[in-house]
Order: sequence, then C-alpha cells, then structure tokens
Amino acid sequence: MASAKRSVIVVGAGIVGASLAFHFARRGAAVHVVEEGAQAGSGVTARAFGWVNIINIAPGAVNYRLVQEALADYARLQAVLPDAFVAARPGSLFWLGGAAETEAFAAAHRAEGTDVELVNAATITAWEPNLRQPPACAMFSPRDLALDPARLARDLIDASGATATFGRKVENLILSGDRVSGVRFADGGMVEADLVILAGGTAVDKLAESVGFRSAVEASPSIILRYSCAAPVVSRILRGPGLEIRQSGDNILHVAKGYIDDTAENAPKRIGERILKVMYERLHLPDGVALVEAAAGYRPFFSDGMPRLGFLPGIEGAYVAVGHPGVILAPLLGRLAAEHVLDGQRSPLVPLPA
Ligand SMILES: Cc1cc2nc3c(=O)[nH]c(=O)nc-3n(C[C@H](O)[C@H](O)[C@H](O)COP(=O)(O)OP(=O)(O)OC[C@H]3O[C@@H](n4cnc5c(N)ncnc54)[C@H](O)[C@@H]3O)c2cc1C
Repeated sequence: MASAKRSVIVVGAGIVGASLAFHFARRGAAVHVVEEGAQAGSGVTARAFGWVNIINIAPGAVNYRLVQEALADYARLQAVLPDAFVAARPGSLFWLGGAAETEAFAAAHRAEGTDVELVNAATITAWEPNLRQPPACAMFSPRDLALDPARLARDLIDASGATATFGRKVENLILSGDRVSGVRFADGGMVEADLVILAGGTAVDKLAESVGFRSAVEASPSIILRYSCAAPVVSRILRGPGLEIRQSGDNILHVAKGYIDDTAENAPKRIGERILKVMYERLHLPDGVALVEAAAGYRPFFSDGMPRLGFLPGIEGAYVAVGHPGVILAPLLGRLAAEHVLDGQRSPLVPLPA
C-alpha cells in the first residue's frame, strides 16, 4: 500500500542517505534530510574511490549476488537521472598476478552470470598506452562505472525534491513509549516524522543507542590518495597487483590503498608519497604530478560482509540503512528500503538489523 503522506526524516546525507531520500520521495513520501556536514556527501562518501563494479568482488563472496543486483539498480538510476552521470566513466580493466589466474577469475565471474571480457596485451596497450608493462591479459568489465560519489549524493538530493537541513547534528531520537517520533538536534530544536531512517554510516549506533539498540557496525579504514596531473593518463579504472587508479575529467588521479597502521611511516601522506614513485614506475606520467589529498576514511562495515536494512527491532518508527560497499549498494538500498516501508515488500537479499 503506497503511503503518499508518510513523513520521513533521513539522518545522514552520504550516498546511502541521499539514495534513500531520492527513492522515498519518488514514491510519494515527504522527506526531510538532516546532515551534520555542510553539504551532502561530506562523510566517508567524500573519500570513496568511486568504483561501481562487480569484478573486484570474488565470485562466491557473501555479497556477490547483492552487488549484481546493485549494478542493475545503477543502470536504472542512470536511465532516470542521466545528468547525474555525465562525468561518470564506464569500463574497468582488472588483472591478477598471472594470466592463468586472471582467466580463471573471469571464468568464475561468467559462471555467476557476470558479463566480463578477456582482453590481451595488445588491446590493453591500445586502450591504455600509458601503462608501461601491460599484463598478458586482463578482464574488461564494460558496465563498471567510475564516478564522484559525493557529487552523486548532492545530485540525488537535489533531484529528490526532499527538504534538507545541513550543518546540524542530530543528538538523539525522540522516543514516545516504544515509538520514535522524531529527532532532537544537538543545538536545540526538534523535527517530528512518522519514520526516522538512520543513514549515518559508521555513526548510526550513536543514535540507535539512544533508543537502546546497537547494530554493531564497525569502522573499517581505507586510504584515499588524490594527485593533480596536467594531462589525461588513463581512460578506464585500472586494477592490478599494487595498483588501483582512475582519473577524472579534471585530470585528478585517484588511488585507493589499504590502511596499514597508525605509525608515522604509514600515515596517509607518507603512503601517498611512496605510491607516487610506484605510479611513475608503472605509468607514463607527465612531470609534476603532485599529491593533493591523502586521508583515511572509515567505511561502515559488518563482520559478515553484508549491509543492514530494516526497522530497529522492538521500536516503532525507526529504520536503519548502512553497510559496505556503500557507493555500489546505495541505489539498491534506497529502492529496497522504500519498497519495504512504503509498499510492505521486504527483500530477503539484505539482512535485517538484529
Ligand atoms: C578509500 C576509500 C575508498 C572507497 N571506495 C569505494 C568504492 O570504490 N566503492 C564503494 O562502493 N565504496 C567505497 N568506499 C566505501 C564508501 O565510501 C562507503 O561505503 C560509503 O560512502 C558509505 O556511505 P554512507 O552514506 O553510509 O556513509 P557517510 O558517507 O559517512 O554518510 C553518513 C552521513 O551521516 C552524517 N551523520 C552521521 N551522524 C549524524 C548525526 N548525528 N546528525 C547528522 N548527520 C549525521 C555524516 O556527517 C555523514 O555525512 C570507499 C571508502 C574509502 C575510505
């Protein structure tokens, strides 16, 4: 049953909250977004690499099917909101240590129904002439996208028609008996609604705990590095051993690296400087490429590798939407949550908070 007059507060305007706002508003809900940051996409979404893909997910992984569904949701979103994707770049090249491993990985993806091609060194060189040592073969995933997730978050909120409050932190949920009836701001004041959706990434439990619930979301660090560059160098996302790189239309080179530890030697800036040397070894780069951003971001992560979507158990009027990989999953989570709350249809694909 559609609920045209349902009023919904979404706490958090990261890519997940923005997608929730978009999907709930499109289904007729009156949506108000509340975000602590100055604009949408100012949490970990601003530090994401921006790769919407399945080839970086191992076939057989617990979330493989979910990500397959999520890519279909991206295609639908792109058809509805083409302007939000004008700067997105399609296609990625992915390879492992040896050709046999890459071929086996491609075969495993295909066995799961994922469309990947194998391309040889000549094709890779023709496509990416700045790669100094192209692998003997790579998987090419034509439907992958490289995009700016913070920009997509802003575009989704703009397109949703939702109202939004930025620069205000929600301190706690307002509980009336067993029912959440709104949110209270840290600087005073409150807003009421039929439903409050917690989409605060790693911070969801700070609010959930105010009504006695803990989702057990963890904060999983990863490092984003961005380099200014005077010229186009790579066209697609390139992902090989030790290298994960893309370039945006402003020629900024984006690199994602695993977090090591909090020693000075492994601080993001130091890693960024080391990786720059590797980039010069691996790619024909123009002179003067410079590190302009090096930061750790904390990804909302559950130990079983799955996101969470659903009403807080035992409490009416509160819903949670959170998990990794949030950029890839955001359109899917937004759609599934709206179908669940407004149409009463819950997908078994995503676990409930428990
Ligand atoms: C280096 C790196 C690379 C990554 N690459 C990818 C990738 O290629 N693909 C991918 O899918 N994922 C990637 N991720 C993960 C991705 O960034 C996250 O999964 C995703 O951005 C999570 O989005 P979110 O909306 O849940 O959280 P957030 O972006 O953190 O949004 C939550 C928002 O809630 C707000 N908020 C929290 N509490 C409150 C409160 N009390 N009151 C008001 N506002 C509040 C915060 O300010 C924040 O803006 C990467 C992450 C990192 C660090």
